[in-house]
Amino acid sequence: MRDDTRRWIEADQAHCWHPFTRQAEWCERGHEPLVLVRGEGVWLWDSEGRRYFDGNSSIWTNIHGHAHPHIGAAIRAQLDRVAHTSFLGFTHPAAAELARRLTAFFPPNTLERVFFSDDGSTAIEVALKMALQYRQQTHSPQRNGFIAFANGYHGDTLGAASLMGVGRFFERFRGLGYPVRHVASMATLRDLPDEMIAATAGVVIEPLIQGVNEMRPWPVGMLAELRGWCSAQGIHLILDEVMTGFGRSGSMFACQREQVIPDFLCLAKGLTGGYLPLAATLTTAAVYAAFLGAAENAFYYGHSFTANPLGCAAALASLEVFQQEQTLAALPAKIEHLRRGLAALQARHPVIHEIRQCGFIAGIELRQPAGADFPPAARLGETVCLAARAHGLLTRPILDTLVLLPPLCASPAELDHAFAALDAALDRV
Ligand SMILES: *Cc1c(COP(=O)(O)O)cnc(C)c1O
Repeated sequence: MRDDTRRWIEADQAHCWHPFTRQAEWCERGHEPLVLVRGEGVWLWDSEGRRYFDGNSSIWTNIHGHAHPHIGAAIRAQLDRVAHTSFLGFTHPAAAELARRLTAFFPPNTLERVFFSDDGSTAIEVALKMALQYRQQTHSPQRNGFIAFANGYHGDTLGAASLMGVGRFFERFRGLGYPVRHVASMATLRDLPDEMIAATAGVVIEPLIQGVNEMRPWPVGMLAELRGWCSAQGIHLILDEVMTGFGRSGSMFACQREQVIPDFLCLAKGLTGGYLPLAATLTTAAVYAAFLGAAENAFYYGHSFTANPLGCAAALASLEVFQQEQTLAALPAKIEHLRRGLAALQARHPVIHEIRQCGFIAGIELRQPAGADFPPAARLGETVCLAARAHGLLTRPILDTLVLLPPLCASPAELDHAFAALDAALDRV
């Protein structure tokens, strides 16, 4: 190991605290975390000069690859002008243009307002607070709770986390956030008592596929059905497209696949191409109208870095790359290549119980050949990912489901590299 690698690891182990991480294990002497120092396209390099395919798009954020010249140039040009200015009391060209471009993806008079924030969790917080304040200002303050789906994930700040249906993340904080009722399906939603529905401001869902819930797709048509139900009940539909947005599903936004327009659309991860933290909550003219009029009707919410100009410049550049590289037009063939590659892998490895895919998102669930789960203590998912790393693939599992969520720019040959690494890793364990 190089001296500087050793120094970085020692400093990290002495002072950094990593997300969702058993720190005692992380800091063990024998643990040598990768120090990532450079990226280009789908590839990342560590401080020892080894190259890896970025198999989960740097935790589901990257769209067009690393060090993309167009996005880099846009960020540098903005940096030469100004890195950050306040959005409280001022505006700036990149935010104004970005808001115009984001709303242009939807028909006129639908999603036409954009509220910027910093990440997926804050995009959700904004939607929740707007939905509640909307009720207070439209004579229905009794609608002060939310409905969310079992096993859903919407972020880790307290409000967003109170929607959480994944027990291991939130059970210990249950009761501290918003009042939330969880349902497992459209059928359980339809069966909710009327009083419950009358106390609901909005329904929150990850459209088409639940990410943290081991990449589980919803039945086809379910989103459109949910839209119909929400409209009939006078309840807002809040879509969390933090993972599915920006081409992941095969369309620019997952909601477009079922011709659904939500009342709130939450975007983050891929918004800047995965280059900088920036989020956006889009909403309708009808919601916006309730915040006009009296001074106290204003939406009292904001962060210091709201609409950060560097992030907005990166987001605009990412949208330009979608056009320049015809990213969406190239996707169907790549999605099919991903499907075939994973099917071939499943044919070779009986340990693969199920492949779940939605566009360029794939979950590969491992089980014992007889169909039973592996004992959690075996940490098979982690073991396989660690083995794949030795073959030049970086990704993280969710329990025993391996995640393959490549940057949209990945070529068939690059995807083949990922399949080969998974194949070798599954052979080894
Ligand atoms: C990642 C994610 C979030 C949270 O976004 P952060 O930027 O990590 O706060 C929310 N919802 C979904 C569906 C996500 O995948």
